[in-house]
Amino acid sequence: MIVEIALDKEFDYSIPSSLQRAVRIGSQVIVPFGPRKITGYVVGLPESSSHDKLKPIQRIVGDQPLITETIVKLARWMAAYYVCPLEQAVRTVLPSVVRRTSRKFKQVLHVSVTVPLPLPETEWAALKKRAPKQARVLEFLSKEPFITLPRLAQETGESAAVVRALAKKEWLKLEPLAVDRNPFERYEVVPTEPLTLMPQQRAALDQILQSIQTLDPAVTLLFGVTGSGKTEVYLQALQAVLDAGQGAIVLVPEIALTPQTVERFRARFGDVVAVLHSHLSGGERHDEWHRIRDGRARIAIGARSALFAPIEKLGLIVVDEEHEQSYKQEEAPRYNARDVAVVRGRMENCAVVLGSATPGLESVHNTHCKKYALAHMPARVDHRKMPMIQVVDMRLEMEREGKLNVLSRELMEAIQDRLSRGEQTILFLNRRGYATSLMCPKCGYVAECSLCSISMTYHKTTHDLRCHLCGGIQRVPARCPNPECQDPDFRYGGLGTQRVENVVSTLFSKARVKRMDADTTTRKEAYSELLGAFRAGEIDILLGTQMIAKGLDFPNVTLVGVINADIALHMPDFRAGERTFQLLTQVAGRAGRGDVEGEVIVQTFTPFHPAIQAARQLDYERFFDQEIEYRRELKYPPFAHLISLTVRGADENTVLHACERVLATLKPQLDQQVIYGEPAPAPIARVKGDYRYQLMFRTPRVRKVTDPLRQILSEYKWPRGVRYAMDVDALSLL
Ligand code: ADP
Ligand code: ZN
Repeated sequence: MIVEIALDKEFDYSIPSSLQRAVRIGSQVIVPFGPRKITGYVVGLPESSSHDKLKPIQRIVGDQPLITETIVKLARWMAAYYVCPLEQAVRTVLPSVVRRTSRKFKQVLHVSVTVPLPLPETEWAALKKRAPKQARVLEFLSKEPFITLPRLAQETGESAAVVRALAKKEWLKLEPLAVDRNPFERYEVVPTEPLTLMPQQRAALDQILQSIQTLDPAVTLLFGVTGSGKTEVYLQALQAVLDAGQGAIVLVPEIALTPQTVERFRARFGDVVAVLHSHLSGGERHDEWHRIRDGRARIAIGARSALFAPIEKLGLIVVDEEHEQSYKQEEAPRYNARDVAVVRGRMENCAVVLGSATPGLESVHNTHCKKYALAHMPARVDHRKMPMIQVVDMRLEMEREGKLNVLSRELMEAIQDRLSRGEQTILFLNRRGYATSLMCPKCGYVAECSLCSISMTYHKTTHDLRCHLCGGIQRVPARCPNPECQDPDFRYGGLGTQRVENVVSTLFSKARVKRMDADTTTRKEAYSELLGAFRAGEIDILLGTQMIAKGLDFPNVTLVGVINADIALHMPDFRAGERTFQLLTQVAGRAGRGDVEGEVIVQTFTPFHPAIQAARQLDYERFFDQEIEYRRELKYPPFAHLISLTVRGADENTVLHACERVLATLKPQLDQQVIYGEPAPAPIARVKGDYRYQLMFRTPRVRKVTDPLRQILSEYKWPRGVRYAMDVDALSLL
């Protein structure tokens, strides 16, 4: 069993005979630990122990285990694969609102009538005269004899005191009962019926149904262009699973988990759908989780962590937009929900569907190796055309205009065109803030964060410089801070969403322009409010960061402009090409979802880059063929697993030395097939004042590195203040 404190260790306890039957794997229990009593989880039931004097488990919390046996197994797998303590993995699979024993179901007073109604004629007349308010309440209750107190008060307009008076006479009963906090109470859903499938959807569904039946193979990659109708395929596959008495999990990326998305599932399946979402209140999350645990909900929808929903008799896991980076958790354990979904599927003998318009290279590669089945949907529903993509060479544009404008002439004219036709435009830019950086045009000085080695971002509304890594704020210098320069013409280089917003609002002064990025959506509801206004046609031009790039479906958007396609290309990362291709394709998918054909204009300084060219033609195959060769040659994923160990601390030498020591101990134990480099500064070499060094490994099998490394990391005497982070199957190398 494990305890809820940070010790990477399991402890043995004996089970007193009174608890013998109740204690199961996954049970939450209270145990003596030194002088204290603490909570822990049962993670194994061994017959014997190597210790002879065992303390007994004191008591058990709740009447059924919080975690199912498979999820305990999954946590064990994650701890081993991603190199983290088991209790950290257990914390990951069990939401804190459920773990904390203090969190309870919400109780509400319910009213039920205890006298026969209607009252005899004379008694009724007397009551109406003596206590007309009480009579009104009783009259209402004769129609609805069981109701919550707040609703009764609301319906009758009478105060709770009136009701209590009746309760005192024992004409009715008041009792507290548990109610679910339903996060979707406010949303009306209109039920939908299954659609008649298009041939490509039919074929995809058949493939998935076969996989559910035979598990051979158990994973299907549903590769369908945006608008090809993937959701309808999921819905009908889910129906089949429900009909067979099984349950399912649907994962969507955090930013796609909007009420509209959830509504499509609730409209088909009603209350058997539960939602697990970080935006819900703690109480709502607690209740939704228990609805699943009790079996009242059979389909769990949510972002990354919904993968651990305690659905029993799991029949299907759907991972929508499987290529999304947000499936990877950025803190330990750095797991990728897409990959863990496949593992859970294997443990539970359940099928997995990975869906995307731009699947990750790894998944497509797996279909080529026949590990996954492929269901391809190359056409849009109703054969609407994919949008035209036009690439604008900003170098030529700059020559022609004599200066660099935010919007090229092509893009400007296209926007004007939409405005005059009453159609909508999305402008996409991968940076928030006003300008990326402050740059001196004379000496090239760039304002950097003094603690983190990245450039500061200028924010216009607050007129200051902010570091997007540590949140640090600096004032804008009046002249170039370089002592040898001090040029007063210190200017803004690069572009941010705020600056684009200014330019666009000035150019199109009559248009209704709104910006959507992490800065304008800090409030919980802001995101859906903005989208709602856009959907209702109250905004002509919506501009924003990747938040608006994905999954949204607006029929009246006929133009998408990408202000600067190069930003993602210049990241120090071997996946830069893949990311750029995916991003452009996804953004393009936002245009022309209605009856009018869409147009996409991409501004770039590197128009002939293969990723941009492939995206221009929406040619996934071409992109894949180029990219996979490069990966094969350099032994990058999917031909190897990438593992990084990042060590950080205040003193550079100590950090570097720790890296060297770890590597020196590890080297003799490494298999010949493992490729690694010497310790190197991380691409972001400093964060919050700490120095960061990395060790990188590429290996055909993860365990070849992690097995010896885990041992070394736990035995090594880490200098004070030096910390490390393991990332197995790292996605970001920053
Ligand atoms: P994707 O998720 O692949 O981008 P969607 O599932 O959002 O595509 O489908 C795009 C649109 O097509 C939706 O409005 C959906 O209701 C509609 N649609 C999907 N399948 C069908 C079908 N078989 N017949 C008619 N309309 C469909
Ligand atoms: Zn910083």
